Amino acid sequence: MAPYSRSIEAPDNWKSDDAPSEQTGVLFDCDVETIDGGRLIDTCNLKRADDRKLVWVWRNIILFAMVHLAALYGGYLIFAKAKFYTTIFAAVLYSCGMLGVTVGAHRLWSHRSYKAKWPMRLILTIFNTIAFQDSIYHWVRDHRMHHKYSETDADPHNTSRGFFYSHIGWLLCKKHPEVTLKGKGLNMSDLRKDPLVMFQHKHYYTLMPLSCFILPTVLPMLCWNESLECSLFVATLFRWCLQLNMTWLVNSAAHKYGGRPYDTTMNPSQNAYVSVMTFGEGWHNFHHVFPWDYRTSELGNFTMGLGTIFIDFCGTLGWAYDRKSVTPDMIQKRSKRTGDGSHALWGWGDKDMTPEERKYVIVHKRRTKRRLSTGVSAAHFVNN
Ligand SMILES: [Zn+2]
Ligand SMILES: [Zn+2]
Repeated sequence: MAPYSRSIEAPDNWKSDDAPSEQTGVLFDCDVETIDGGRLIDTCNLKRADDRKLVWVWRNIILFAMVHLAALYGGYLIFAKAKFYTTIFAAVLYSCGMLGVTVGAHRLWSHRSYKAKWPMRLILTIFNTIAFQDSIYHWVRDHRMHHKYSETDADPHNTSRGFFYSHIGWLLCKKHPEVTLKGKGLNMSDLRKDPLVMFQHKHYYTLMPLSCFILPTVLPMLCWNESLECSLFVATLFRWCLQLNMTWLVNSAAHKYGGRPYDTTMNPSQNAYVSVMTFGEGWHNFHHVFPWDYRTSELGNFTMGLGTIFIDFCGTLGWAYDRKSVTPDMIQKRSKRTGDGSHALWGWGDKDMTPEERKYVIVHKRRTKRRLSTGVSAAHFVNN
């Protein structure tokens, strides 16, 4: 029986509307075999890329080449000609689009790591349409495949095929037949029940050009007299192309560069640079181990987690609820068992601090130099 059709019994404390994971078909929701979410068998041998000859789609190659050239020109215009408001406008659109992808298509619709009321879903749907990364429905389908069949030929942007392929190459050639074949077995019924998602999907080629291209080009011209050239190349093409590449870096760079404190058997890694530009999506080793954690990292709101901050803010409005996160205990167990040993401390009081580490610490309680030596806490730093 295929893993995605495996019947899983929900734990006793789950509510019926917690939507059993078999409905989503996402591998790590349900197919775990140990208490800390790890797999008992070594799945490394499943990672593969057959030596098939790629069938290039020249229309896409030409279009993406043109978009990247236009974006480079847009980058030049930011410094040479564009009005300040246009650059700010591009940054705002970038942020909205990024939230629509990360907080919406990714954490809400792909992984169902929290639930959202309709005002938040509406905002995220609009934001997502601004980003133009395909409809939410298609994005989620590809992303669930990416998690379920990670690093195999059924993964749409299979990292085993190299950096370029996982970054943009997968959009420039025909899909591997495994992606199409296994994709048919993926359960997308939860998406089909969401009227906003289906409305966007049905009217995508009306809503998307309006949100991603037409309005971002027209508004700067109407509101602060920007030229057509700067509006088009900066607010629209530069912003869109930058956002695409930053999102793709999650599939390429964050599957290659960085530590693996939670699981060394997979390529996804912790990449701070990608996290900055994607509002917290670069902590990818954590995310592939615990895809249902709405924070996509352990770091919470401390750094580079703008997506999490946004969800928490919506939580205070009552729009986001049932936010799921992993217990520190489970994280600790898992990282000790399968991590690379680099599970870093975030600072004093981190759960991973050992009693020894707490003991051999100087705590400066007094201000004067003379008293400093006597002002240390009962714990002393000993290095001799
Ligand atoms: Zn990934
Ligand atoms: Zn994901």
